Amino acid sequence: MSTVLGAVVAVGDELLLGDIVNTNAAWLGEALAGVGVHVVHSAAVGDHVGRLVTALRRALEDADVVVVTGGLGPTVDDLTRDALAVVGGAPLERQAALEQELRDRFDGFGIAMPEQVLRQADVPRGARTLANPVGSAYGLRLLVDDHVVYALPGPPHELQAVMAGGVLPELARRTQSRVTTRTLRCSGVGESEVAERVERALGVIPVGVDLAYLAGSGVVRVRLSTDGDPAALGPLLARAASALGSDVWGRDGDDLPEVVLARLVARGQTVATAESFTGGLLAAALTGVPGASRAYRGGLVPYATDLKVSLLGVAQEVVEQHGAVSAQAAAALAEGARTRTGATWGLATTGVAGPDEQEGQPVGTVHLAVAGPDGTRVLSRRLPGDRDRVRVLASVTLLDQLRRALDAC
Ligand code: ATP
Ligand code: MG
Repeated sequence: MSTVLGAVVAVGDELLLGDIVNTNAAWLGEALAGVGVHVVHSAAVGDHVGRLVTALRRALEDADVVVVTGGLGPTVDDLTRDALAVVGGAPLERQAALEQELRDRFDGFGIAMPEQVLRQADVPRGARTLANPVGSAYGLRLLVDDHVVYALPGPPHELQAVMAGGVLPELARRTQSRVTTRTLRCSGVGESEVAERVERALGVIPVGVDLAYLAGSGVVRVRLSTDGDPAALGPLLARAASALGSDVWGRDGDDLPEVVLARLVARGQTVATAESFTGGLLAAALTGVPGASRAYRGGLVPYATDLKVSLLGVAQEVVEQHGAVSAQAAAALAEGARTRTGATWGLATTGVAGPDEQEGQPVGTVHLAVAGPDGTRVLSRRLPGDRDRVRVLASVTLLDQLRRALDAC
């Protein structure tokens, strides 16, 4: 197996100014690693031919394979093809076949084609075009000495389509990589505790196997990977999973809302939601899963206290005695969601997302309730982070509470 070094160059002023987040670099890093390319360099550069040329030359010093994303479109600030022509010493040549395709595409939509669209038919001499099944900007593949540069469109779905079609298979053949990755997904437990339990269970990790932890948005992933014999991973994964016990909710590409809904469907059960400070995040997560209607009944966002009473049937005394942000109110909301929708399970959130405290309770105070056939349980916590983070963490934690309740009965 040969080591192939890779570099990523993301192009666009908007990346530098913070108008958009450079998610392409993250996606490319992971995709390249997945086919065994060792990524050693990642850069972002503005829409400027000279700087783009410099960035490409630097990337070519570091890497065998350079993947450029962005700046391939038809507008004057799309300069990747011009920079590529300079770096490769390969003048741009208009390709008649590409020109015709662009004209046909516009004819097909019945709109007049602005002349500058034809810039997309300009290809550095010797470059190969890479089909873009979901957009009009072709990808380009150019050899520069014995290095390969792939120039790909910026819109993430176009980038990903061109990578999957022409680039990743070619790179996988080149690295002859057979990296196998297995992942465990857990919630309700911190990254360092996960690491401690996994490492105690695994002892010394065999040579050739990598162990990594990735934490974010209420989920900790434990990742085992190897470029050797994939059979080495099975027993390690099993030992790690048993050390983590009921904190594990999924493996590999599993998604928590999907896992929860699948378990409900398997039992012929349903769920409904009443969300205060999460404002529908749970409902969005659940309805984001295709086929959610088989188990998700629906949800309410009773934000104002009087709606908690009138829509969900929370007793006035509960609100007066304990406040709207209380374990008692959360329990009553979950029970209301359950009984008013006829669902098997009711989920409810009430809490203080911030930035200001409420009813004398600090930011991050949350009460998360699961009402089910055998009663109601409330998890009261103080979650870290700002408003966005508290809301997301709470949604994930509550879904995980339902998953645990389903596993326990
Ligand atoms: P287009 O034909 O759309 O102009 P392009 O190849 O010229 O494609 P850009 O103009 O650089 O690409 O970017 C188009 C859009 O793609 C951006 O507005 C942004 O929404 C998205 N995009 C570009 N680069 C990135 C990136 N690095 N990460 C995430 N999104 C990106
Ligand atoms: Mg553009």
